[in-house]
Amino acid sequence: MKEETTMEKIVSLAKRRGFVYQGSEIYGGLAGTWDYGPLGVALKNNIKNLWWKKFVGEREDMYGLDSAILMNKEVWEKSGHLKNFTDPVALCGKCKKSFRTNTLKDNKCLQCGEQLKSESQFNLMFETHFGAVKDKSSAAYLRPENAQGMFTNFKNIIDSFHPKLPFGIAQVGKSFRNEINARDFLFRAREFEIMEFEYFVKESEWKKYFDYWKGQMNEWLKEIGIDKKNIKEVEVSEKERAHYSKRTVDFEYNFPFGTKELYGLAYRTDYDLKNHNLDYLDDETGEKFIPHVIEPTFGLDRTVFAVLSESYTEDELGGEKRTYLKLPSNLAPVKVAVFPLLKNKPELVSKAREVFEMIKKEISQIIFDDNGNIGKRYRRQDEIGTPHCITIDFDTIEDDTVTLRDRDSGEQKRIKIKDIVSSVSI
Ligand SMILES: [Zn+2]
Repeated sequence: MKEETTMEKIVSLAKRRGFVYQGSEIYGGLAGTWDYGPLGVALKNNIKNLWWKKFVGEREDMYGLDSAILMNKEVWEKSGHLKNFTDPVALCGKCKKSFRTNTLKDNKCLQCGEQLKSESQFNLMFETHFGAVKDKSSAAYLRPENAQGMFTNFKNIIDSFHPKLPFGIAQVGKSFRNEINARDFLFRAREFEIMEFEYFVKESEWKKYFDYWKGQMNEWLKEIGIDKKNIKEVEVSEKERAHYSKRTVDFEYNFPFGTKELYGLAYRTDYDLKNHNLDYLDDETGEKFIPHVIEPTFGLDRTVFAVLSESYTEDELGGEKRTYLKLPSNLAPVKVAVFPLLKNKPELVSKAREVFEMIKKEISQIIFDDNGNIGKRYRRQDEIGTPHCITIDFDTIEDDTVTLRDRDSGEQKRIKIKDIVSSVSI
C-alpha cells in the first residue's frame, strides 16, 4: 500500500461508488455490520468465483459444501466453542464501556482512562433460540466458524464419494462473532464471510501439506494482485493460537490501519474428527484411523478490503489529479464501459447500444454510460476500476472503429468494432 492510502479515503470511495455501505445506515447504523452495494457484490463475487475455481473446480481432491449456519448445539460442545471461544473482557466502572483486555496495554479504559477491574470471559457466539420456547434447552448459535460444517459432513462425503486421502471439503459462507469491539471497516465485523477448506491428511504427512498449502496461499495472493511486500507471514505462538491448533501461520496484510491478519493457515490435528467420533477406513490396507487436518482460511470481506487498499491509487493524468482503482481485470466489477460520445445524437447512441449488446454477449460485466461529459465518465470508471472504456463517435459510423481507452495509462487507440472483444484482456 502507498503512504497516502488512508482508511477515510477507502471508506469514502467505497460508499460513494456503491461498493460498501454501513449496515442499517438510515437508523444510525449497527456496529460491525456492512452492506455490499452493486459494485461491492460484483467484486466480492468475482473474488469468490475465482477462489472456488482455483481451490475446488480445478482440483480433483476437493469437495464443495454449503452447510447450514444453524447447527445442533452439541456440535459446539464437541468443538470446544461453548467453553473456549471467548475473549477476556472488562467493563469500565465509570463510563460502562466494555473492552477486550488482551488488546489493552495497561488495562486502562480507552474511553475515559479509568483502571479496569474484574475481567471475565465473554463467549463470542451469537445465541438465538429454536422454536417458541426461549430457555436453555432451546438455545442455538449462529456459527462462529465454517469448519464444523465440513467436519459434521465428513462421513456423508466419504459415503457418497469414497475419496482417498488426502482430500478436502471446501465451503464459502457466513460466520458470526459477537466481537466486543467491532472496528476497522470490514476488518473486524460481527457478520462476515469466510472461504475455507479442511484438508484431510495422514498424520505423518501434515508438515508436507502445511507447506504445500502455504505455497498455494501465496499463489492466490499473487492472482488477486496483492504485492508480496505488503504481506507478512507470522508464526503464531502457542499462547496466541486457537484452542484446536498445533501450528498456525498468519498472513498479515499492510492494511491502512496497520499490519493485521488477512488469512490463516492452521494445523488442526485430529482434534475435531476425534471429538465428533469420526474416522477413516483405508480400503487398501483395511486400516482405520483418524485423519489430521490442515485448514487454510481466507476471510472474504478482509480480501475485499485488502484488494481495495492495494488497488487504490492517486496520480495525475492530463495535468489533473485523479483517483483510480488499479484492480486486476479478473476482479474488476465492471470490465468494459461503453459510451456514445454525445448523448443528444441519436445515431451515436444507437450505434453505441449496438456495440454494447454485441460485447455483452461475450463479456457479462459491462455497462453503458451516457451521463455527463466524456471526461467525467472516464474518471467515474477509473474510480471503480474499469480497465477498458469504449467510445463511439462520428468516425465509428463512417468506418466501424471505436476508441479504446486504457485505465492505468489513459492512452487511447482506435480499433475495429470486430476486434474489441479480443483486444480487452479480462
Ligand atoms: Zn471508561
